[in-house]
Amino acid sequence: MTTRPRILVTNDDGIYAEGLAALRDALAEVGAVTVVAPERPRSASGHAITLHKPLRIETVRIPWGGEGCAVNGTPSDCVVLGIFAIMGGRCDVVVSGINLGPNLGEDLTYSGTVSAAMEGAICGKPAIAVSVADYERPDYGPAARFTARLVARVLAEGLPRDTLLNVNVPNLPEAEILGVEITRQGKRRYEGRVERRQDPRGRDYYWLGGEIIEDIAGAGSDGDAIMQGKISITPLHLDLTSHAFAKTLKGWALR
Ligand code: MN
Repeated sequence: MTTRPRILVTNDDGIYAEGLAALRDALAEVGAVTVVAPERPRSASGHAITLHKPLRIETVRIPWGGEGCAVNGTPSDCVVLGIFAIMGGRCDVVVSGINLGPNLGEDLTYSGTVSAAMEGAICGKPAIAVSVADYERPDYGPAARFTARLVARVLAEGLPRDTLLNVNVPNLPEAEILGVEITRQGKRRYEGRVERRQDPRGRDYYWLGGEIIEDIAGAGSDGDAIMQGKISITPLHLDLTSHAFAKTLKGWALR
């Protein structure tokens, strides 16, 4: 008899997030799941890792049932500790999510969800980030069930080195999801990235964020697939090099 695949589940919304439990429950059908997640929400923490303070792992009860390992660190810390300290390196796939809210276009660089999957790829494991494209009333069920099917396929086929999958699922009933599209990372236009306000003592403070005005990447992008009611899967690579511009840059003959 073959051993069950070993699955590390993490997120950036924290160990008590509903999306994490939904993912864990769906993946329990596919393999043996280990849950290692930040002790508090760490959305938009990017790929930070903790180098200058002690990290602790605490087993906690999850309100949605069962137990998990809570870490006083970032999503990427959770992946490194999960694989090497908790699973002893015996991890077959890393799955991060299900995030509350989409991770599209430029979000990827800020996203703790995607960064955790990137860390999985850095550690040499197949890795998948999953987000549901709604902040208000997410139904994690369709995303969880799709991810279980995808993880089973990834375990069977493998992923190339340094490659991870960024999955976004529209917040629709399964019957209304219009298929799966393989996409590229999109680009979005924001307005009002910085708001200046005054605190009660008359000093300025700044509030970052901004409204997304439109998806400007067009057909084939992650955001476009979501707009069309499709599941978006973008294969990402750890190599951030702009190979096209490298040729031009060599032509500058810098010295
Ligand atoms: Mn999040």
